Amino acid sequence: MKSINPATNQLLKEYPEHTAREVESIIEKVSEARKIWSETSFRYRGDLFRNMAACMRADKEGLATLVTNEMGKIIRESQAEIEKCALTCDYYAEHAESMLTDQVIASDAGRSFVAFQPLGVILAVMPWNFPFWQVFRFAAPSIMAGNAAVMKHASNVPGCALAIEELFLKAGFPENIFRTLMIPSSMVEAAIKHPAVKAVTLTGSGPAGSSVASAAAKEIKKAVLELGGSDPLIVLEDADLEKAVQTSLASRMFNQGQTCISSKRFIVVETVLEKFTSGLIAAVSALKVGDPMDPATQIGPMARPDLVDDLEKQLKESVKAGASLLYGGTRPGRPGCYYLPAILGNVQKGMPAYHEETFGPVFSIISVKSEEEAIAVANDTEFGLAATLFTEDLERGEKIARKIEAGAVFVNGMVKSDPRLPFGGIKKSGYGRELAEYGIREFVNIKTIWIR
Ligand code: NAP
Repeated sequence: MKSINPATNQLLKEYPEHTAREVESIIEKVSEARKIWSETSFRYRGDLFRNMAACMRADKEGLATLVTNEMGKIIRESQAEIEKCALTCDYYAEHAESMLTDQVIASDAGRSFVAFQPLGVILAVMPWNFPFWQVFRFAAPSIMAGNAAVMKHASNVPGCALAIEELFLKAGFPENIFRTLMIPSSMVEAAIKHPAVKAVTLTGSGPAGSSVASAAAKEIKKAVLELGGSDPLIVLEDADLEKAVQTSLASRMFNQGQTCISSKRFIVVETVLEKFTSGLIAAVSALKVGDPMDPATQIGPMARPDLVDDLEKQLKESVKAGASLLYGGTRPGRPGCYYLPAILGNVQKGMPAYHEETFGPVFSIISVKSEEEAIAVANDTEFGLAATLFTEDLERGEKIARKIEAGAVFVNGMVKSDPRLPFGGIKKSGYGRELAEYGIREFVNIKTIWIR
């Protein structure tokens, strides 16, 4: 596996892959280790996750630099990612026990209750875009619940994958509670088939989700899927336009546009279209391109050359079909996977920018006549991850939020994940939830105990 710096296209390091036999042996060791782990107290596990949070904070600079070097995220976003992982470890250390405490339910029994018990070894298949956060938002709740984990990370972040495994040991966890499998995607199905693996979670694209969920279904094992999105951001005529522009900018440019929940389709009521568009062009054109390690940089590289090629193709096809390129959409003359943010106007049904997930810095603006049309366009997608809307009438905002087909709707604010709130999608954005108590209950046996 190769670690390549997308800011320079230079090879950083090569890592050996595990063989099929090594994978089997790792899964067996993890399965053995989890037998003792699942009997430990929440207090003990919580102390270890607090240590984990402290280890991450102590090495924030080193870990953030690793993230930036491997996938190009600008350094202050990498630092924030590590901090968020630490916060989530602390959060589950504090709350896991109360989330999984027995629930007494009155019935015809003398005493009946629900117990939440760990399933065993969980396999996680993870993406590169938040190489620490995606892993910890699964691992902290699942391991606090008494499970153990094996993780296959994206092939372009092998350094992060190994650093996470190392962090578990540094924090004092027993060996083999969390292990990294250094394998290509072609070896995932065999790992799912291993009898000790009880469930799988995948964060990634639709095709990967479909393949992993099919393999899990064949084995009758549970799967949670966190997939892509083409999130709408609606701007109504009574919106605070400055706030709408700034939020659009922050959401679409975060992580160089490579975020599942970044707003991708900007659905704007025609009476405010011109003002919104000119505000957005002014805001985007003020951003500074540069080295992602430079704290002043606002536009860094995308993560891989093929991602730039795919995005450029979607943009060109949309323009060919009648979209207007209002700003950017070019490659600056520097090495690395750089792509200048593009603003597309007149985006319509039938264009890739309308229907597909654009996983990079492209703003697709769609003009609508009314609130009803805005809702219809927002829902006119195979995805259903999240949505944003701007209106100064909060009652109106709440009514519209209920009509939007998505796992989350944020009114007058940027969509973000938060350990206190459930996270996940509907439609082709996947199923199951992460975070909050909904997330920690995905990988437990919700067991009824009836006693008379
Ligand atoms: P990806 O290509 O689907 O890869 C995700 C992970 O799945 C990687 O570890 C990849 O391994 C593995 N994989 C790919 N094909 C597979 C297969 N057929 N069988 C088993 N494993 C397979 O996605 P990505 O490019 O890394 O990430 C971007 C996508 O993830 C976007 O669509 C984005 O919206 C989505 N995403 C969703 C969420 C969410 O919470 N809903 C969060 C972040 C990202 P290799 O790297 O070895 O191919």
